Amino acid sequence: MAAVAQTLAPEHVTPHDLVTYSRCPYEMELIRTAHASIVSGQPVGARTPPGVVPMRHSPLFTPPNLGVIVNDGRLDVAPDDVLVYEDSGEDDLPILFPEHQVRLDERFRPPSSTLIDRGYRLSGRPDLIVERRGGELVPVEYKSTHLFVGYHESHGRMFDIIQAIAECRLVHAAFGRRPSHGIVLYGDVANDGEHEGWVQVAYGDAEEHWLRAAIDQVLRDDVRAPVPSERTCTSCGPNRDGVCRYAAVPPGDQHHTSRATYLPTVPWVRR
Ligand code: SF4
Repeated sequence: MAAVAQTLAPEHVTPHDLVTYSRCPYEMELIRTAHASIVSGQPVGARTPPGVVPMRHSPLFTPPNLGVIVNDGRLDVAPDDVLVYEDSGEDDLPILFPEHQVRLDERFRPPSSTLIDRGYRLSGRPDLIVERRGGELVPVEYKSTHLFVGYHESHGRMFDIIQAIAECRLVHAAFGRRPSHGIVLYGDVANDGEHEGWVQVAYGDAEEHWLRAAIDQVLRDDVRAPVPSERTCTSCGPNRDGVCRYAAVPPGDQHHTSRATYLPTVPWVRR
């Protein structure tokens, strides 16, 4: 899902913010200040205090994961499934639905395609929202990687759970119907779909309570400390641009390209 490049007052959190915060709060802060700098046209400084002591782990507690179901293979689209929302800012989404099963909700077409939950102070854009027979809504997050990348790493699948939970809440707020689950879909583009798959993430009271507390934690955190580790710093956008003095690996040692949601040219302000 594309990052939200608009300002909302008071501060809102996106699903991507929650994912980044779970890796490294300072990374989230640097990315957010970069966006704010672009929107305002002025360099915006990070709230992280100078001389902050790095942490060993992100302070975000893990989301409930007992309702996660991993499915190997293609996500089937039923004849009566309807695509009601698509993130117009994403140009690499798979075409899953024939034309006669696409009925995009006019309320969420650009420039109003960002879903906003003012009560939770959450905003963002799922990749897709599917309406199933009986009216159930399901947000779908698309990843071009294959199903088992990062599956056995300590944080690998947690990112997807966080994103799916946050997108379920956005759908609930925007459409007035609470999804029972969200889906993360893996296209495995690099391997011609050899390891396609999808993960179903339950969304109930426990997940909603976790989300509310997690957003509160992010918004209250005035430190947003760095959590240097080779694994996260290797794929960190601010590290790629050489703006983090706490990085566990130098920018030149980064093995992976940065995530697509990261802005390539930003007026960084160091603290
Ligand atoms: S380089 Fe490492 S410590 Fe610095 S912001 Fe990125 S993930 Fe955090």
